[in-house]
Amino acid sequence: MPYDPGNVFARILRDEIPSDRVYEDDEVVAFRDIAPHAPTHIVVIPRGEPPTSPAELDDADAPWVGRLVVRASRIAAEQGLAHDGYRLILNCGAHGGQTVPHLHMHILGGRPLGPLG
Ligand code: AMP
Repeated sequence: MPYDPGNVFARILRDEIPSDRVYEDDEVVAFRDIAPHAPTHIVVIPRGEPPTSPAELDDADAPWVGRLVVRASRIAAEQGLAHDGYRLILNCGAHGGQTVPHLHMHILGGRPLGPLG
């Protein structure tokens, strides 16, 4: 799928719409989800025009995807989630519940999240 520069995360990166940012560096921006599913719900997005979903990743993407996971775990720790635990999610496509076509990682925590399903 070609990247849509009008998607909501692209607009957040361009500061066209506000976001409650909790972390940013040269590769990623992390902000609070506008419709949280847990007491702490943060979305971590790569800067630029990444693949639209995990389905488009290939081996060449492994280094930055790995760093995305590391960043997310650090952000979770900074948010005080490390002791009790948290969930990292990459949604993919319609059945995965993906609504924004800019690859991203969710951090969910702050309560027992229960089994997947
Ligand atoms: P997904 O369903 O995996 O594509 O995740 C997209 C997430 O982006 C959803 O959890 C939305 O609530 C969240 N979201 C959409 N628009 C905004 C926004 N303007 N600010 C923060 N989060 C948003």
